[in-house]
Amino acid sequence: MREAESLDRTKQWGGKPYPGLGFDFDPQWYLTDEQRDLQERLIRACHDVIRPQAIVSDQTGEYPWKSLEALAELGILGCIIPRKYGGRAENHVGVTMITETLARYGCPSTAVIFTMHLVSVAALLFRAAGNEEAVKVLRRIDRDCFVGSASYTDPETGGHFWYPKISSVEIVPGGYHVRKKSAFTTSSGYARWMITQTVSPNFSGDYSDLSVFLLYADELKGSPGVWDAMGMRGNQSGPVEIDVVLPEGRMIGPPGDGAASNDEAIDPLAMLMFGALYNGVALACMDLARGHATKRRHAQYGQSIADYATTHDVFGRCLIDVQASRVYAFAVSELLDRNTRNNDWTLHEDDPEAMPRTAWTVWPFKAKELGCRMAMEVSDRMLQLHGGSGYSRKAGIERLVRDAKAGWIMGPNNEITRQIVGRWALLGAEAADFWNQRVNEPLLLNELDKLDEDGKRAIVARLARDISD
Ligand SMILES: Cc1cc2nc3c(=O)[nH]c(=O)nc-3n(C[C@H](O)[C@H](O)[C@H](O)COP(=O)(O)OP(=O)(O)OC[C@H]3O[C@@H](n4cnc5c(N)ncnc54)[C@H](O)[C@@H]3O)c2cc1C
Repeated sequence: MREAESLDRTKQWGGKPYPGLGFDFDPQWYLTDEQRDLQERLIRACHDVIRPQAIVSDQTGEYPWKSLEALAELGILGCIIPRKYGGRAENHVGVTMITETLARYGCPSTAVIFTMHLVSVAALLFRAAGNEEAVKVLRRIDRDCFVGSASYTDPETGGHFWYPKISSVEIVPGGYHVRKKSAFTTSSGYARWMITQTVSPNFSGDYSDLSVFLLYADELKGSPGVWDAMGMRGNQSGPVEIDVVLPEGRMIGPPGDGAASNDEAIDPLAMLMFGALYNGVALACMDLARGHATKRRHAQYGQSIADYATTHDVFGRCLIDVQASRVYAFAVSELLDRNTRNNDWTLHEDDPEAMPRTAWTVWPFKAKELGCRMAMEVSDRMLQLHGGSGYSRKAGIERLVRDAKAGWIMGPNNEITRQIVGRWALLGAEAADFWNQRVNEPLLLNELDKLDEDGKRAIVARLARDISD
């Protein structure tokens, strides 16, 4: 009954029927009535505020505060926060819907800002129990449009964002002296707080021994206004430098909790949201192409672009691919909801050892790769359907094509993601080897066999020196 009702609803865009694909091509059956209402309100905010701001941000690089304020008004910035801290306790399905909707009808840059913000919220929620500072931040999120970000990517290790080479932490009286350099941090110089990850105090060379910190804007050096990129121009991704003494409560979770924080909070949510975000970008391109192809006519044949059989083939294939990617993201969201009391973050307060998302890590990783690949491929095809007018800024698709390119390179880039999934599937979870710790002995011996005796002696001497050092 409910499905039939949803198909009857006409998608609205500024009081008129939406020119792109209607609800009959959306997997609305995953959503509750409440989530459908939120989706409609978000589409309205996209029409009135977020899409116009996306165009301005693309042209000028302006940080999209107006769009973020619109999200805060809808209670979306803190959507996953439990009700007891003032949030709406949204589940994974809801997060996937919000992220896709925001990127599709509103602004891909704002959707990246929202993603990096929400994964930081998740890092706080994972270890909120007994941490007053974390709870203080959670209570301010929507009330004060308190936008956060995640400063992880290290300039030396790139897409392996969980590998903070340029970082150190020293225990000092009353807290920690934290030093770190990051590259490409979204909202650099704009976010009001950030989560970052460093090696742990008393670091002994094991990069899986990581710790997580909360910092406020005045405790780090961001780089406002330096972002000048081909796409995602409102995103203001930039370097961040940290060299500050933080009180004890700013370590989120115990020392060495970083890998658990990645597995349970950062990775599942970020990978799922990246998948949803770039599905949204691909759909936005298809919406525009549908509008153009049905209107543009060739006088010599009396046909529109939408009448050509080749257009049916391209559009049909892209739609089938994107639908598969988004249904995949929604299915994984549902899987995570089923294992987390419907995304109830207080379960970590009840049981700090609980890691219900971690067992399913490889599933959200696949959502990231798939969504980013779809956006890359589909955006190119839809630009092609626009013909020459797609090149002009007025059509709007060239902005989306530029934005679509960012997903593939965002960490872990699609190559690394495939390697993780492929190694895991072929050789087991341990083979994913996130911190480059597994020795490939057959390969090592094979290489050594290539050496003559002098070569082998030189290696033995070098190893002997390493051991005695
Ligand atoms: C718009 C935007 C926003 C971002 N926001 C944030 C943020 O908020 N926080 C944050 O921490 N980071 C952020 N990042 C960083 C991002 O997530 C990546 O970590 C980063 O872009 C990787 O960049 P790199 O140039 O160092 O890539 P590199 O690691 O140098 O990789 C370059 C290319 O080499 C190839 N490659 C790399 N490794 C392998 C491999 N193992 N096998 C095969 N090929 C490989 C791939 O083709 C890859 O694209 C953002 C990036 C962008 C573009």
